[in-house]
Amino acid sequence: MKHPESKVVIIGAGLAGLSCAVRLHSSNIPFEIFEASDGVGGRVRTDQVDGFLLDRGFQVYLDAYENAGELLDLDALHLKRFEPGALVWKNGKLHKLIDVFRRPAGLWQSATAPIGRISDKLRVAKLRASLLKKPVSEIWEAADQTTEQHLRQLGFSETMIDDFFRGFYGGIFLEEELQTSSRCFEFTYKMFSQGYATLPENGMQAIPDQLAQRLPSESIHLNTPIVSIDGNTVHTADSEISASQIVIATDGKAAHQLFPQVQQPKWNSTSCLYFSASDPPTTEPMIVLKGDRKNGLINNLCVPSFVSENYAPPGKSLISISLLGDHRSHSELADEVKKEAVDWFGPAASEWTHLRTEHIHRALPVTGSETQSPSSEPDHIHICGDHTINGSIEAAIQSGSKVAKQISEKIVA
Ligand SMILES: Cc1cc2nc3c(=O)[nH]c(=O)nc-3n(C[C@H](O)[C@H](O)[C@H](O)COP(=O)(O)OP(=O)(O)OC[C@H]3O[C@@H](n4cnc5c(N)ncnc54)[C@H](O)[C@@H]3O)c2cc1C
Repeated sequence: MKHPESKVVIIGAGLAGLSCAVRLHSSNIPFEIFEASDGVGGRVRTDQVDGFLLDRGFQVYLDAYENAGELLDLDALHLKRFEPGALVWKNGKLHKLIDVFRRPAGLWQSATAPIGRISDKLRVAKLRASLLKKPVSEIWEAADQTTEQHLRQLGFSETMIDDFFRGFYGGIFLEEELQTSSRCFEFTYKMFSQGYATLPENGMQAIPDQLAQRLPSESIHLNTPIVSIDGNTVHTADSEISASQIVIATDGKAAHQLFPQVQQPKWNSTSCLYFSASDPPTTEPMIVLKGDRKNGLINNLCVPSFVSENYAPPGKSLISISLLGDHRSHSELADEVKKEAVDWFGPAASEWTHLRTEHIHRALPVTGSETQSPSSEPDHIHICGDHTINGSIEAAIQSGSKVAKQISEKIVA
């Protein structure tokens, strides 16, 4: 079977592919998207299970993202905020670290929490002030090193790095050695300082759904993996499609398989366990972190139904617990995690009901501090996706928008 000729073929309906399509559509450039799975969103999907909204892995939308904020209708997402700050589990207790710039009343509690030293807390304030002033473009052009080296260079104590940064940024980068690029650290720190961590009221999938709703439904072909590219033709298992331009908007591994010049990324993995409880284990919508690096499986925990009540049916709370690394072969994982939660929150945690475990082996492409050499593509092939910048919603949207601009310029010229 031969599809009618389409100007632009986009492979992948994750955020990068959808963003590219939305931009092309608004420039009246015809396109078709071919998506391997049964829905749009790629790594940003949400399942409805017994009245709970289960995001496929814990993630948040940072409302200071510039490129994403330009493309998305944030008001329509009804973003709900986490409280700025974190609860840190250390020495058998939860300690509150509040963002005192937005919650000045928490100054004393944060200053006296046994997480880092007073000098560390002053450094946090100094770093915040300097990153608020620093343009994002300068962050990405700055000299690069690992986040761990960078934190030491900034003068943070080892206890602050271990008790706070490894938990907090470990949860963001999905690796607690903090080998991720210091540029990613500075960018994320700036985003957290400038805005809030949020969840769309009806789950993370509302983000890709919003983009897909702006596109003609017949332009998106689900359950249609592209198996190869041959010149200006892309092949599915049983058809071929000719294109003037081809956009590879898959994750880095699939991009490498379709077009070997793309470097195969390394990946950070995570597992996310969901539990239902009659009562939430915390009293506010704040992320809870492990401050004790050496013991235990849990990296972070939160109660999404505290942030948006739509995440759980009435009378229930949804608890999301994230672990770093690959735990696919761990058969007793849910029981062990629950046992650890009993240490943190007491016997009520033993009553939690396990809803689901999401193992995400290829969660985030590693963005190390070494510079990657860009791949060189023929004129009609364009690569986008988070692996081309860094593992984030912002990067996926930015990369898809950038490719759409390149194509528009080429077609108009
Ligand atoms: C657990 C987890 C936590 C995260 N936390 C955050 C966070 O808090 N904040 C944040 O900003 N970001 C976070 N991220 C990162 C963010 O979700 C991703 O960077 C972003 O969604 C990547 O989008 P993408 O379009 O580049 O790739 P993908 O989402 O991977 O989309 C690629 C699409 O291509 C499709 N595809 C693959 N091969 C083919 C083929 N051969 N033919 C057709 N289609 C194909 C796939 O099915 C997929 O739909 C997190 C990610 C995970 C997994």
